[in-house]
Amino acid sequence: MTETNSKRPVRHLLGLSGGKDSSALAIYLRDRIPEMEYFFADTGAELPETLEFVDLLEDYLGKPIVRLNAKKSFEFYLQLNGNFLPTAKTRWCTSELKIRPFEEYVGSDTAITYVAIRADEQHRQGYLSTKPNISARYPFIEDGITRDMVEDILNSSGLGMPKYYEWRSRSGCYFCFFQRKDEWVKLARKYPALFDKAREYEQFHRDAGRQHTWSQGENLDDMLARADEILANAKIQQDKEDRKPKKKLFDEYSNHGDDEACLVCFL
Ligand code: SF4
Repeated sequence: MTETNSKRPVRHLLGLSGGKDSSALAIYLRDRIPEMEYFFADTGAELPETLEFVDLLEDYLGKPIVRLNAKKSFEFYLQLNGNFLPTAKTRWCTSELKIRPFEEYVGSDTAITYVAIRADEQHRQGYLSTKPNISARYPFIEDGITRDMVEDILNSSGLGMPKYYEWRSRSGCYFCFFQRKDEWVKLARKYPALFDKAREYEQFHRDAGRQHTWSQGENLDDMLARADEILANAKIQQDKEDRKPKKKLFDEYSNHGDDEACLVCFL
């Protein structure tokens, strides 16, 4: 699949988020595109399970997964953005911590980026670079690979699903504003130090006289105070989903539907 232009070979790039879809795509393409370059844009705020899974995947692929670290930390960009926490609508975190490092890594090379949107979710829009030298391909859509098949790919490889799926629906930063309220509660119980750090960002914001919270409508302290209620509601919702025929999940207790979520971070 290597094409060439007059100067340098086209680069084939696959970005891993630590999520199931991009991981399955890496496994799926390992032998189909041997010249593939794998990369992982580490925000510095990844879950321990994500980092562990990327290490395991690297062993499986038998090739380095290049870690792209943003030149500056989340705190630096937070300050640069007037200490305004990122939100779904002002998602400066994705552009600074994920997209910019990727585009710098590609530079002016002609590159194809392989995007893990599945055949059963063609309505979703992944990150498309506005750079003319970067184009995208969608192998799962091209080959009709659906969610169940992705799980089969992961299970057959021996890697299985990343462990954070036991308590959280997506990869991404521990403080990600896309996570559901029950996932915040689980973060508090599983990684109290990370939860406290997220709470400090929010507190800093509050001290500056602002109302913005990570999760829509309430701050982390208030959320924790009604942790049992949140978990009970999430269980009711999950039971309802389990009884339905399989279709696109939408959690009414979440801040945002899957469609809105950041595919750069979660695929
Ligand atoms: S995972 Fe969430 S918080 Fe982290 S960069 Fe992506 S959208 Fe932003």
